[in-house]
Amino acid sequence: MSNSDAQKLLWIDGAYVESGSGGFFETTNPATGVTLARVAQATADDIDRAVVAARAALGPWKAKSGVERGRILHRLSQLLREHRDELAELEMRDGGKPIAETPEADVDSGADCLEYFAGQAASIQGEYQEVDGGFFYTRPEPLGVVGAIGAWNYPLQIACWKSAPALAAGNTIVFKPSELTPLSALRLAELAKQAGVPDGVLNVVPGFGDAGQAITGHADIDKISLTGGADTGKKVMAAAAGTLKTVSLELGGKSPLVIFDDADLDNAVSGALLANFFTQGEICTNGTRVFVHEAVRGAFLDKLLARVAKLKIGNPADADTDVGPMISPEHGQIVLDYIQAGKDQGAQLLTGGERIQVEGCEHGVFVAPTVFDGCRDDMTIVTEEIFGPVMSVLSFTDEQEVIQRANATEYGLAAGLFTRDLERAHRVIGELEAGICWINHYNITPIEMPFGGIKGSGIGKENSRRALDGYSRIKSVFVAQGAVEAPY
Ligand code: NAD
Repeated sequence: MSNSDAQKLLWIDGAYVESGSGGFFETTNPATGVTLARVAQATADDIDRAVVAARAALGPWKAKSGVERGRILHRLSQLLREHRDELAELEMRDGGKPIAETPEADVDSGADCLEYFAGQAASIQGEYQEVDGGFFYTRPEPLGVVGAIGAWNYPLQIACWKSAPALAAGNTIVFKPSELTPLSALRLAELAKQAGVPDGVLNVVPGFGDAGQAITGHADIDKISLTGGADTGKKVMAAAAGTLKTVSLELGGKSPLVIFDDADLDNAVSGALLANFFTQGEICTNGTRVFVHEAVRGAFLDKLLARVAKLKIGNPADADTDVGPMISPEHGQIVLDYIQAGKDQGAQLLTGGERIQVEGCEHGVFVAPTVFDGCRDDMTIVTEEIFGPVMSVLSFTDEQEVIQRANATEYGLAAGLFTRDLERAHRVIGELEAGICWINHYNITPIEMPFGGIKGSGIGKENSRRALDGYSRIKSVFVAQGAVEAPY
């Protein structure tokens, strides 16, 4: 059985191989329903093969200098840039994301990440300190074999955000992309080989939750890095406890965006749009609880609705499409059910709230960008992550009140605020319980800035130099100077 565009096998030890079970699943274009490829489905035995390959590749890979690992990762970042159009198209077709977004949001951000960690690889260093009786130094060492599991909304970016720091720090990796979007990670693996990543260092094993479980429970994997839902995060952490693996979790959220009465309202509206409708709302950090000061609520909503009306819902392959289909008909139905719950519980629907038919894309569930006003904190649409283009507008008048309401959630992924008052901006940010915050912006994630949630949104940081800590362990080495004084 061979690998082709229409049939993708597992990528283990630098080559395409069949799944031991011979099983396949299909990955489809969410807009058209057209099958893009049959993809080999990894089983526990396949995960084991991938781990064996990753373990065998670990010694030579970690023995390379950081400079050399960085040089290879840099070549890979360049290959991503050279294949920008192809990868952007692949991500659009497999994930239903508008082609207006994918070149920058997916491919460039993946390449930026590889480039950043290529640069960091050469400067991973320990400490040295003189102490009584001698001195000590610390050696940052790779953890070993990393098991990484991705979500479907930013498949290539997630594959890069996990593999770049893991590989820079000298680990090898077994990556399981989401069953809904397996193609770009496989292409990344092919390009990695071309860039000089040795066989076995980066393995890609498409499959479902059972393949994820085989990763989390595998005795010879040293660390788990998951991007996914909060419930999956809890299961993964519990499973990893059996073998005491280090775990980092990038999970969901229900993040607040606070618009104060002195905000630049045009910027605030731009922020609210970015916080809710980019990638048709399928973004973990989205600021879906938009708290607007009562004094500017009317003006804010007028400007917001005028801008929402201009959003073009359409085939993600069209250059002028702003909003594509939900990742799957099933997920689309979940989003529509949330909208119904919003109506049933008394929220006031200002715009959207319905499925839109797009010519040539009858299979896809396209949800019109939806704005609810008059929301209460206890409504289902205000408490639960929807992962679709649904904004809930809430009204407030007092700073302490809005802080308390913004924090009244199990999640703590992100938060944003708009104000011209610098003192207030930093005072409020200091009290918001969120791992990633934006002042007068929303949803931008420069690779240099740590990214990760707190509370029910996760553990650990991706991006920035801090991501390397999540893929390294510190060995402390005491060196005696002088005789050993023993009391015996
Ligand atoms: P999901 O939790 O359903 O699946 C995530 C991955 O985990 C998939 O690869 C899946 O196959 C695997 N999986 C499922 N069950 C598993 C188990 N028991 N053990 C091990 N692996 C298992 O999430 P999804 O629907 O793919 O993605 C959407 C969710 O991801 C949303 O909640 C979103 O907020 C979150 N997300 C978070 C971030 C972040 O950086 N914080 C980024 C993107 C998405």
